Amino acid sequence: MSAPLALTPAERPSPAFLKEGPKKLLIGGDWVPARSGRTVESIDPTTENALVSVADAGAEDIDLAVTAARRAFEDRAWSAISPYRRGRILLQIADVIEAHAEELATLESLDMGAPLAMTRWFVAHSVEVVRHYAGWPTKIYGQTAPTEPGQFHYTVRQPLGVVAGIVGWNGPLLQAVWKLGPALATGNTLILKPAQQSPLTALRLGELLLTTDLPAGVVNIVTGDGANAGEAIVTHADVDKVSFTGSTAVGKHILKASTGNLKRVTLELGGKSPDIVFADADLKAAAKGAAAGFAEGSGQGCVAGTRIFVEESVREEFGRLLAEELATYTMGDPFHPETRMGPMASRQHYRRVTSYFDIAREEGAHVRHGGELADNPGLFVPPTVIDNVTNDMRVAQEEIFGPVATIMSFGDEAEVLRLANDSDYGLSAGVWTTDLARAHRIAAGLQAGTVWVNTYAQMTAGTVPFGGFKQSGIGREHGTDVLDAFTETKTVMIQL
Ligand code: NAP
Ligand code: MG
Repeated sequence: MSAPLALTPAERPSPAFLKEGPKKLLIGGDWVPARSGRTVESIDPTTENALVSVADAGAEDIDLAVTAARRAFEDRAWSAISPYRRGRILLQIADVIEAHAEELATLESLDMGAPLAMTRWFVAHSVEVVRHYAGWPTKIYGQTAPTEPGQFHYTVRQPLGVVAGIVGWNGPLLQAVWKLGPALATGNTLILKPAQQSPLTALRLGELLLTTDLPAGVVNIVTGDGANAGEAIVTHADVDKVSFTGSTAVGKHILKASTGNLKRVTLELGGKSPDIVFADADLKAAAKGAAAGFAEGSGQGCVAGTRIFVEESVREEFGRLLAEELATYTMGDPFHPETRMGPMASRQHYRRVTSYFDIAREEGAHVRHGGELADNPGLFVPPTVIDNVTNDMRVAQEEIFGPVATIMSFGDEAEVLRLANDSDYGLSAGVWTTDLARAHRIAAGLQAGTVWVNTYAQMTAGTVPFGGFKQSGIGREHGTDVLDAFTETKTVMIQL
């Protein structure tokens, strides 16, 4: 692995948004500083320099945001408008994101270090997601039920009220619209808290929302860290629901914190997903897919396929093809046209990811294809494969959240299903085989919210459910399931 590709400061973008001064909180349609006056710097992980200062919200600010969201909900200017109009406003939001796509992608790459090609995809996907949700308001049906003669029973789905979306740093805009789309389509109002490491696209989105017909206070955007701002949201008695994307540890904490007012909680959490290669697979395609599965985005993806299982008879051939493929993952500045992997999102995260190389060695595993990078001035971690692994090792069980995969071999279907399912997580999985019946057998046996066959990490813009088994989460985003997560069902019985 050669040194990461670098750009000079003059070759890097400097968007106007960063020069316009400190960023504030969007509460009730106005930009306001944190009551405490506190700010924090948002950091560019490529240079480790500050990009701009951002308000650091505390409990008082969260209270103001909740009050604004409650007022906007009760005002009915959003929750009770015509579904056609609500859909049209969602389409306006999609259009305004699309019109600023390049700017948003640039801000995201600066803020969290993903290559521009990837953040461009994040933004394009976000546009499609919002368009998808624009179609829902006119299609949220209730049911009628068979009843005793002389009675009429029906159900309606009603919004929950004030919904909080708390999201991670690894796909900030995408995760934000995965909350915003369904929350708004179903008539709720929203408080969005981006991660402190990557608040910029949410803040720019807030400015863009103000140019649409969305009523003030329907979306409030609060920046601040998890321990203060996040905690104030999840313990607030007037927040009706938390839709969370982040780590399993924080997800468990949120579930406990929700008991005060029995908030509805949906959790999209971590993963340690298996990617299974059978000897009958197209091995070249499998190697390409498996490499992308854990190296794309520098492995900072919840669905990363970080446990690769290869059928014993093709282990060597697959290992060679995988190494060839990983050699194409050039690291560097997110704005360099040849970069396929940017830096880790923060120094703290870089330290955590690289600490697993020692953990692996101490456990008796071998670190191959990468591991350390001699000539590394920044937070870059090369794609790394760890072999000589057993499934009980920490490197095979813990989510590393970097471009680090373990590789293990297996003899038959029963063995690989046992190994693949031997994990606390159950977010996603991949299967590579040309045997159709086997593909279905393995898909049926895997404990995973999404199973990809002969592909990996393909995301659709809202059409299919997404979420995790076991400790990868509770509930589903997208598909038709999402309606359960953002509405209450009311039964009405009428004596005729
Ligand atoms: P994280 O540490 O759990 O943070 C996620 C969000 O929660 C951030 O906004 C964070 O704020 C906030 N937070 C932290 N402590 C909180 C508290 N006590 N109360 C309320 N909010 C709190 O996760 P991360 O490191 O950003 O993201 C990586 C994790 O997300 C990985 O485990 C990954 O697998 C998972 N993930 C899951 C999905 C999925 O859809 N299943 C998608 C992407 C990522 P601050 O960061 O500002 O402190
Ligand atoms: Mg940042």
